[in-house]
Amino acid sequence: HAKRREKSICPYTQTMRHALHRRQRMTERLNAAISGHQLALYFQPQVDLASGRLTGAEALCRWYDAEWGWVSPGEFIPLAEERGLIRALGDWVLEESARQLLAWREKPEGGLPGRLSINISAQQFADPELTRHIAQLTAGVSPSAIALELTESDFMRDPDQAVEITHTMRQAGYALSIDDFGTGYSSLSYLRRFAADALKIDISFVREMLENKNDRAIVQTIIAMAKALEMKTVAEGVETRDQANLLAEMGCNEAQGYWFGRPLPADEFAAQWLTT
Ligand code: C2E
Ligand code: CA
Ligand code: CA
Ligand code: CA
Repeated sequence: HAKRREKSICPYTQTMRHALHRRQRMTERLNAAISGHQLALYFQPQVDLASGRLTGAEALCRWYDAEWGWVSPGEFIPLAEERGLIRALGDWVLEESARQLLAWREKPEGGLPGRLSINISAQQFADPELTRHIAQLTAGVSPSAIALELTESDFMRDPDQAVEITHTMRQAGYALSIDDFGTGYSSLSYLRRFAADALKIDISFVREMLENKNDRAIVQTIIAMAKALEMKTVAEGVETRDQANLLAEMGCNEAQGYWFGRPLPADEFAAQWLTT
């Protein structure tokens, strides 16, 4: 009896062991990549839907591992969060963002217009000294050149604390965007208190908004709600001209997505977007 049980468990435990082993090795290699500055920041343009003008960019972290090749942020960011590496990673992202903003400012074309959006994870957000910490890591860059992106679910984890931190951030001059909006069940009363500048409409609603009238209704509702609360809307994941046109018609302010431009390494981003 015992033997039969062992046999049936075996393939499962092997797969488990394999997955655990990969995650353990990945944790070690990611740790080394963070301290060895082997990560990269890519930049994706954000544009004004009415004029087509660049309004800023989002900084997106990239990791190339010698053995595994490009590892998706969808895999290594949650791992970093789980294994206590996200603060070190987040600090590097902030420093590298500042370095890049300053480097662009030195160019004859003059620097990034608008703001650079930087993703902040829940664990960074839990730090009561976060605003001061960001200012230290981005010394030399004006807060007016930075927007901080926090997901809707991160806000809702401890909404009262979030209200406080967001006010401190705004007072310091940072803009604030609520990322992945529509997926995190925020209550309207909190939304009003979160002092955010922008709602980023989650890609999942944009993807099928032309075919699916429920998704279209959600997008329209988010835009109307943002207007009522005096926030701007940024649609993510815009991949086609038709999506861009419909969003513009609906009154969405800005957009980001492959239709306008993919995330690019700093030099390619500058060559394509920061020339006069
Ligand atoms: P996010 O903040 O929602 O970022 C937007 C994601 O959508 C990015 O994925 C971007 O490459 C992708 N994207 C942009 N335009 C399109 C499009 O037209 N179609 C499609 N299908 N996708 C598009 P990416 O770079 O893989 O990042 C995934 C997530 O990882 C981000 O989602 C963010 O939550 C996290 N992340 C990335 N960089 C950082 C970072 O520096 N810090 C933190 N905390 N999280 C990061
Ligand atoms: Ca984001
Ligand atoms: Ca997002
Ligand atoms: Ca997302």
